[in-house]
Amino acid sequence: MAPITNGRTIYKEIPTGFPEPGKTTVYDTSLTIDLENVPLNGGVLIKTLVLSADPYMRVQMRPVDIEGYMPAFIPGQPIFSLGVGKVIRSERDGFKSGDYVYGLLDHAEYSLPNPDIPEFGIRVFKPEPGLRHTAYVGAAGMPGQTSYYGWKEYANAKADETVFVSGGAGPVGSIVIQLAKQDGLKVITSAGTDEKVKFCKEVGADVAFNYKTTSTLEVLKKEGPINIYWDNVGGTTLDAAIENATNHARFLECGAISQYNSKDGVNMKNLDQIYARRITLYGFLIFDLAPKWEEEFYKVIPKKLASGEIKFREDITFGLENSGQAIRDVQIGTNTGKKVIVVAQE
Ligand code: NAP
Repeated sequence: MAPITNGRTIYKEIPTGFPEPGKTTVYDTSLTIDLENVPLNGGVLIKTLVLSADPYMRVQMRPVDIEGYMPAFIPGQPIFSLGVGKVIRSERDGFKSGDYVYGLLDHAEYSLPNPDIPEFGIRVFKPEPGLRHTAYVGAAGMPGQTSYYGWKEYANAKADETVFVSGGAGPVGSIVIQLAKQDGLKVITSAGTDEKVKFCKEVGADVAFNYKTTSTLEVLKKEGPINIYWDNVGGTTLDAAIENATNHARFLECGAISQYNSKDGVNMKNLDQIYARRITLYGFLIFDLAPKWEEEFYKVIPKKLASGEIKFREDITFGLENSGQAIRDVQIGTNTGKKVIVVAQE
């Protein structure tokens, strides 16, 4: 078989605000790959099927010498994110041709990831019958795990309590809503369009509102106070949550997407209430909680997703050439569910 083009999304430069396809990233078709003969050097050759576009990718667009919880993207190299692929060839124990793998993959049609580096690691998985590959980067993957691990570890939920979930229509928020409802809580949630608000209600939120057209402060004053805040957005929404928290409230600090593309304009007025109300803030990253909760997650959640007991919604972009736009969509909020890039069908 002759060498074939290996399309890749290359990182070009740090954006000043939102990432821009064609400027921040470019799609490149200058390389070819010989699938039968490319040296594996003890590794595996992967065909990329699905890639994830996630909020945290914006924090990887920073100078390479600045530390962060995920490695910075390197100019001139492909960007990378969680994905699902199929093993084409393998020289490594535990991986054989035809296996499905999940892990950090280059935004390339074909790649040779290094399975030895834990945070870049890939693992073989067996897809749950009835669940598409795309789910494994969303509700059955990192975002779903974040919701499950964080909720189980820190919520300490009681049935008569009230929780506020910001970013309620995304893969993290929508699963938190469902976990909270299973535990019997009243759920208040916010999202950025009326259509997203409708989805939040469909997954069980008692109160859902469009934070762009309705005051978060007013809703929380009317429907709160809140015992738990699941924070996906940070900024003034966090400030409003502090203002409407009960004494001894728990704040699960999962993300702060309102701050990823701009640090300007946030005026936190209520920080003094953290001590006054004895609020506990749990800042967490999924990596730290995985050893405790991952096994249980894979036993419980994929089955519930496949059966429809837990609902999820995907927003699929087709073609690796569109991954730069998919990444931007997630930052500006035009994604209508878990943003997934389908690179190849099989
Ligand atoms: P997502 O909902 O698929 O996408 C991000 C959403 O954020 C956008 O669709 C948009 O929805 C909203 N958004 C954008 N700008 C905003 C702003 N200024 N104010 C409020 N909302 C804004 O994302 P996800 O994958 O579920 O992730 C949700 C959060 O969890 C993110 O902050 C992410 O970084 C965090 N996270 C943390 C961990 C961890 O380990 N701690 C792991 C995974 C994810 P709207 O239309 O509603 O504005």
